[in-house]
Amino acid sequence: MLSAPKTETDMKLVVVGAAGRMGQTLIRVIGETDGVRLHAAVEREGSPFLGKDAGELAGAGFLGVPVTCDPLQAFLHADGVVDFTSPAGSVEFAGLAAQARIVHVVGTTGCAQADDEKIAAAGRHARVVKSGNMSLGVNLLGVLVEQAARALPPTGWDIEIVEMHHKHKVDAPSGTALLLGEFAAKGRDVALSAQSVRVRDGHTGAREAGTIGFATLRGGSVVGDHSVVLAGEGEMITLSHSARDRTIFARGGVAAALWARDRKPGFYSMLDVLGLSN
Ligand code: NAD
Repeated sequence: MLSAPKTETDMKLVVVGAAGRMGQTLIRVIGETDGVRLHAAVEREGSPFLGKDAGELAGAGFLGVPVTCDPLQAFLHADGVVDFTSPAGSVEFAGLAAQARIVHVVGTTGCAQADDEKIAAAGRHARVVKSGNMSLGVNLLGVLVEQAARALPPTGWDIEIVEMHHKHKVDAPSGTALLLGEFAAKGRDVALSAQSVRVRDGHTGAREAGTIGFATLRGGSVVGDHSVVLAGEGEMITLSHSARDRTIFARGGVAAALWARDRKPGFYSMLDVLGLSN
């Protein structure tokens, strides 16, 4: 693995959920990225990985950073936290990052509205970047979906979002599918919550015009496939993204932390980071 040389001015990042699929990927990507270094690694209380070296855990070689279950201590003297954990974890870390007045990058999906409100409120003191997908490709896809949804009238065009992920994923539809749904709803100038159809089963009746449908597939080791289908009479457009490797999300998360370092406290999205917000 190629390691970027580390200096005193590097942004000191804490990886929470360090033993997870994304946590380990983040530790490796931080090691390879200029301008950042691993300050601390946090896991749940009771995790079998506590006390283990975070670098060795992630296959990045010994880093001298033992995995801890004390986020308060871990956030001391840190510049930012990169958080792909669980909704309850991210709410807790948002409060701590706000107290410490540092950057909080949140990739966790499956948050309830109340969780999102608490994380957004932390943006009064922290610099929070939250997105259901941290990759450049998906965020660009979202912009294209918004344009397409704006151009195609809901009376003649139906929007369906299909996603597939690995068999271990615990929330559905995926955060990315919901994000793409938000882009489509924005293009149509409607609220996704009022238009989404997240499950179909049995005698559902005909499709209601203007709705945005979701379909979820789970299996194998699929990192994340998403398609937005715009179906009209006699023609169909499909806009798709396929994630082949988790490092795209980790690189996005680290780029978000570096971007947020010199911003004012606030609640930002990946569109802000990538310069795609309008
Ligand atoms: P995972 O289950 O492999 O890892 C999650 C890790 O977080 C686990 O090791 C778990 O012990 C730890 N954790 C959970 N709550 C914690 C807490 N309170 N304190 C400390 N550690 C805690 O899952 P994963 O595949 O790495 O995904 C994690 C999250 O990131 C999911 O919500 C997933 O949907 C999301 N995700 C987002 C993106 C994105 O681009 N936004 C990309 C991939 C995954």
